[in-house]
Amino acid sequence: MTAKFKTDSEKGLSVEYRPLELEEEIRRFWEENHVQQRLMEAKGKSNKGLLGYVEGPPTLNGVPHVGHARGRVMKDLRYRWKTMQGYYLPFWGGWDCQGLPVELEVERQLGVKNKRELLDRVGEEHFIQECKKAIMKYQKAWVETDQRLGIFMDHSRAYWTYLDSYIEREWHYLKHAWDQGLLEEGHYVVAYCPGCQTSLSNAEVGYEGTYQLVEDPSLYFKFKIAGRPNEYFLVWTTMPFTLVTDTMLAVRPEAEYARVRVGDEVWILARQRVEPVMKELGIEKCTVIATVIGKSLENTKYEYPFMDIVPKQGELEKSHSSVHRVVCEDFVDVETATGVVHLSPGNGEEDFFAAQKRGVPIFAPFDDEVKFTGEGGKFCGVFARDTDSMVIEELRTRRLLVEAKPVKHEYPTCWRSHHKLVWLARKEYFLRTDKINGKVLEAAEKVAYFYEETRNRFISFLKEGKPWCISRERVWGTPLPVWKCRECGTKSIVASKKELLERAIEKPRGEFELHKPWVDRITFKCQKCGGTMHREDFVLDTWHNSGASPYARFADEEFSKYVPADFLTEAVDQTRGWANSLLLEHVILTGKSEAPYRAFLFQGLVNDANGRKMSKSLGNVIEANKLLEKYSADIFRFHSLRKCSPIDFISFDPNELGRRTYQILSTLYHLNRFFLQNAEFDNFNPKRQTLQWARRGKQLRNPDLWLLSKLQETIDNYAAKLETCEFNLAVAVLEDFVIESLSRLYVPMVRKELWTDDPETLGRRLAVYATLWYALRTMALLFNPVTPYLSEALHQKVYRKLDPELPESANFESWPKADKKLRNKTLEEDFETLFKCVSLSYSARQNAGLKRRWPLEKLVVIAPEKVCAALKSVEELFLELANVKAAEYATGKVPQQATSKGWMSASEGDVQIFLKVHRDERLLGAGLMRDLARRVQALRKELGYVPTDVLEAVYISELDEESIRLLEPHLLQMKELVRAKTVHLQGNRLQKGMEWHESQLDEKKVWIAISSGAAKQSL
Ligand SMILES: [Zn+2]
Ligand SMILES: [Zn+2]
Repeated sequence: MTAKFKTDSEKGLSVEYRPLELEEEIRRFWEENHVQQRLMEAKGKSNKGLLGYVEGPPTLNGVPHVGHARGRVMKDLRYRWKTMQGYYLPFWGGWDCQGLPVELEVERQLGVKNKRELLDRVGEEHFIQECKKAIMKYQKAWVETDQRLGIFMDHSRAYWTYLDSYIEREWHYLKHAWDQGLLEEGHYVVAYCPGCQTSLSNAEVGYEGTYQLVEDPSLYFKFKIAGRPNEYFLVWTTMPFTLVTDTMLAVRPEAEYARVRVGDEVWILARQRVEPVMKELGIEKCTVIATVIGKSLENTKYEYPFMDIVPKQGELEKSHSSVHRVVCEDFVDVETATGVVHLSPGNGEEDFFAAQKRGVPIFAPFDDEVKFTGEGGKFCGVFARDTDSMVIEELRTRRLLVEAKPVKHEYPTCWRSHHKLVWLARKEYFLRTDKINGKVLEAAEKVAYFYEETRNRFISFLKEGKPWCISRERVWGTPLPVWKCRECGTKSIVASKKELLERAIEKPRGEFELHKPWVDRITFKCQKCGGTMHREDFVLDTWHNSGASPYARFADEEFSKYVPADFLTEAVDQTRGWANSLLLEHVILTGKSEAPYRAFLFQGLVNDANGRKMSKSLGNVIEANKLLEKYSADIFRFHSLRKCSPIDFISFDPNELGRRTYQILSTLYHLNRFFLQNAEFDNFNPKRQTLQWARRGKQLRNPDLWLLSKLQETIDNYAAKLETCEFNLAVAVLEDFVIESLSRLYVPMVRKELWTDDPETLGRRLAVYATLWYALRTMALLFNPVTPYLSEALHQKVYRKLDPELPESANFESWPKADKKLRNKTLEEDFETLFKCVSLSYSARQNAGLKRRWPLEKLVVIAPEKVCAALKSVEELFLELANVKAAEYATGKVPQQATSKGWMSASEGDVQIFLKVHRDERLLGAGLMRDLARRVQALRKELGYVPTDVLEAVYISELDEESIRLLEPHLLQMKELVRAKTVHLQGNRLQKGMEWHESQLDEKKVWIAISSGAAKQSL
């Protein structure tokens, strides 16, 4: 060790576990000693393998909340664990900087209502500067969260998706798509947000929470059949505005339709819907006069009702023989509504396909704000959804309205702005991922997802295999690198800045970057006709931007080294997001059926304490930095991993952080404190007093051997659960070892041995320290990926204190491996038996009202031979734990003596324990002594004595004569138990000027005073 890396280890462990203070100190230690950087450098130079990693970039449109924190903890867990195993991971950050979410956040900050206002008032250039400012602000908050959480991600090597260098490489994906004929322009029905004024991808429409309960008109109306007086098709819709773009009616070919007499009219609707629809409309009198098969209605002409106010419809009718006629389509549902569907190919996907396959023209008279254009006739200039009521009125005046009332139903809204989406046929650019769906699925099948549910969800989403609409009519995004000739329509794609500048007719002067508006000013000369080529005015879907990261964030050489990534993990809402776009783009780029990741763990989201989704509108979002100002990062990390499986949704209650998790970490802390105090007192030297040394000296006893064996099991189980991403179960394994094996079982078995300074037994004490040293240090290392602060603190303040030659940071240590030679399953089984029988003896005691610390004379075990043999093999320990002087064993029937008065029994399965509960004077005295000793011990602690301090004298007063007489024979033992040179028993408080402490002993009061004198050693 060099003095340079001298740590705060002199500071020791404070009496209380105060994680916030500790973490502050360790954070400083890491920073001052550049631990994070040195760790990565060291692994870069020497490792046992590379594990690729690509950061799923947080979108910089807000500050991180507790859900993000949970995800980052899982990433860091993996990094620390794999690094300790000797692997090198490029655990470098990345930031998602562009796209609609950032634009909307900046619009909000600028107080802009829509895109038009944005362009008029702010302008593209200024807007882009504002976007950059915004992401820088949020990036700071994210880095702060990582620092608080102790995330060892290298942000100095983070990628930024808005930089030219990144965008160029993103273009590379499109070039590959273009070359394979997978990038196409086309008309297509897309979900369009009138608020954001851009289309959304199919994946975006399916986001969780986008379907909301909204109110729409529920409209029943009639289309008159041409040439048949008083005969109508009955139709239902919740989108009246689509009557403006209506061009066909559809029925299900094989279904039965009824002609129903209603008053003096005849209505046609699906036979099975007659009763429910009439009931809903409140029509009591109606008669089915005939039924026909759907197919027979094909080609029936109906009178389009708004010919006079939408003149374009007349032109359409003349242009194609199917317009305003009935067509047969299998997608028509006869289980709901009337079973007669009107088709608006400009506003619906199925309608669009029905028109396309018949060559019917697509009528979509909308502008960017989804207002009707001039072709919308009377509705020109009105936002589509605002014409709903106008349409209803028009139907009413034409006597075609049957009923209109409000209805609440689930309807998709924009995931960003919450506007109701409108389906529109628009000119867009598509990645024809439907053409490579086979390869995509094959690639996805090879990935490990750890949990079936999340795997199935992802695969079934991918099976939809729809084309990916990647064009967005926005500003702050990667520009679509397609230029089109104004004269002949020839298109050309560029894939680098260099190529762009070479081909530019006029080179840009001054500032230039690969963003609007600069890139729009570049024009090319058409190779074909000599005309001018202009860029197609789109930016890319932000998911294309982040999905390009495996190639775009690395250099070529790195890409071949680190991709496919070994393991990625993101929240489950990335199923349709990043996990999807990564996969699609990688298959396009490589042409192979290969995902850019070998494993993908989808994490559940974080809900509030009541299980409600966290949202701005509910005001229940917990910001990570605010939370971590008040609560320990280690405790948050442990809790968020321990509470449920990584794929489950957590109901997060900050109040829980102070409870169980604190106790567990505090127990580990105090076990180390206990160890350190004792070990230092006896000058334990971990380099000399090793386990091998203890074994050679035959100083290891059964409790030590049992603990060492359990520890090997713990190491294996923990690693196995980490490998299968069952983090909650992995952490439970650690918890169990600390709380049960170490704290509840092992330490009580050896504590008494440490409670002396007899030089004769020093060897034995050192053997216990050797055992504890190994077990505690191993635990601290296993805990490191979960609670890095506590592990580092213990490493500095306990282990390096005793062995300054240890690595400078816990993170530089190697991952513990289970030592098979230390595993002893027979001993573990014997101990299982032992603990079971001890606990039976406790039940018997409890039934007799006897405290555990009161020694008893005898117990008898009636059990199968195997149980008796196991107990005999650890008899010394059995007697000590059960606190009896002797044990007898029998396999057969109950001995005579045990059935008499003065005995108590307890049993479980085939094991029965009989306890002699009668106590003579000697045992009564010993019990009383133990009671008093315990009170003195509590007082010692209260007064701040450490276990190794030896007291000059202890005075116990206000005892009656009987008690004093009973206690006399046990004084020697008591002195040992309370670590005092002398113990004085007295009837009255004789010593003046002493500080007497009142203590309750069952019904009686006693008074205790301590004279510390010169302690043997104060710590
Ligand atoms: Zn929107
Ligand atoms: Zn041309």
